[in-house]
Amino acid sequence: MASSSEERRKRLKAASESRRQAEAGAGSQRRSEGAEDDRYAQEIRRRRARIRAERRRRRQRKQRIMIGVGIILCLILVAAVAYGAMRLFSGSDKVKEQETALEGVEPTGAEGMEAALEAETESETAQSERELLIAEAERLSAMYDYDGAIELLSGIQGATEDSEIAGIISGYEAEKAELVPQDINTITHVFFHSLIVDPENAFDKERWGTQADGYNSVMTTISEFEKMLDEFYRDGFVLVGLHDMAHIETTEDGQEIMVEGEILLPEGKKPMVMSQDDVCYYEYMEGAGFADRIIVGEDGKPTCHYVDENGQEHIGEYDLVPILDRFVEEHPDFSYKGAKACLAFTGYNGILGYRTDETYDPNSDLYDPEKEANHNIEEDRQTAREVVAALREAGYELASHSWGHRDMGSRSFEDMKRDADRWDKNVNQELLGGTCDIILYPFGADVADWHPYTHENQKFDYLWDLGFRYFCGVDSSEYWVQLGKDYLRQGRRNLDGYMMWMDVSGQRDKLSDLFDDVSAIFDPARPTPVTQ
Ligand SMILES: [Zn+2]
Repeated sequence: MASSSEERRKRLKAASESRRQAEAGAGSQRRSEGAEDDRYAQEIRRRRARIRAERRRRRQRKQRIMIGVGIILCLILVAAVAYGAMRLFSGSDKVKEQETALEGVEPTGAEGMEAALEAETESETAQSERELLIAEAERLSAMYDYDGAIELLSGIQGATEDSEIAGIISGYEAEKAELVPQDINTITHVFFHSLIVDPENAFDKERWGTQADGYNSVMTTISEFEKMLDEFYRDGFVLVGLHDMAHIETTEDGQEIMVEGEILLPEGKKPMVMSQDDVCYYEYMEGAGFADRIIVGEDGKPTCHYVDENGQEHIGEYDLVPILDRFVEEHPDFSYKGAKACLAFTGYNGILGYRTDETYDPNSDLYDPEKEANHNIEEDRQTAREVVAALREAGYELASHSWGHRDMGSRSFEDMKRDADRWDKNVNQELLGGTCDIILYPFGADVADWHPYTHENQKFDYLWDLGFRYFCGVDSSEYWVQLGKDYLRQGRRNLDGYMMWMDVSGQRDKLSDLFDDVSAIFDPARPTPVTQ
């Protein structure tokens, strides 16, 4: 096990190196209709765009060279004329020799150069494209998508006669044969809130009052999160999505049923779901040491905007998303087929740091005069949609966390319905394309007890009608999964200051399946004791 994972690491390193080289000098575009999964298809599309740009550059270079060849031809012509004149006067053997040599150069010289250039470009193109696809296949296989990897390799021109490719494919087939199906009923689900970038600021009680206690209790710092990731990875956890655990199928008579997914992982690996709540960058958090929005970076990938204590702006790894993206980039075997985390949004402050809700819209009947009007609301909604697309492309699932952070368990049906409709209108329809099917309950407050949901339950029935199929509460046990007839339910564990403190202070032991030593993770910047 150890040696094979060592080998894999080496192979991955080599593959990513050759991918880098291939990207630097890539050639022609290639089709691969096989990439079933959108995540990979998008990535491949991006790479192809880069390849196309490179081809354009090559074409331009070729044109420049052809102009050069033209100039040389002109010079030769001038020389020939001069030589003819010279010959008229001398007629020596030496000049005759020069003439023969010159004849040899003139017509074939240009064609030869062009042909050589063409051949060089073509072979470079084929070679770098082949390397690019082999590296991509290696990345897919590292994420346990052996079928995707094999399909990609089989599409390479001349793959059937290529012994190296045949060798890689049979290696993947052997690795795939060793995979073990996972029991979805024992999958753990961990969750976080916005990560704290600057703990000294966030925990400053003089500055933030009781809010600082709240941050200390329910938030996790970046340094804690990074240590947790390292430990999850070391322990063999692999991120999977809720949609990997189970999915809806429609029967012949039109009934929707939730069907258990087949998750295949190597012996010793364990699936894990990760989520993050309230990814809204609420107004009250401004200036308190958190990122303030997610943006699409220059590379087309989601990243964070953060303003530090001195008012200095920064873009980069200031919350879960870009940190996790980099981690998976470095450790693709931490992600099952590209799965990352599930991000949940409320509606009342908009999502992702953009004040997109109608209550910010000065032109809306529902404008809330208590709020600062957002005169750029349409642009902000468009930006939020672009960030949503980038997040989905990067492997994130998106979820509802109610509109007003409502306790859906204790509120009346009418109240819950009003809130759910508001979320559906302002977030799901307006920004998520109406496709959201996951609820992460605020406060973990479920609409029912642990018994299986039935459609007699008015709240469940209403949420189901709105399109929700995945329902997650909060449960501190190692795992809690309920595969219903037409839904999936899962308990989630908060990995925050309070939870860690309970373990560090010896009052509870709820984290030992995840961490060897919680005190090594617990941020020393936290004031203690941490209260709930
Ligand atoms: Zn929440």
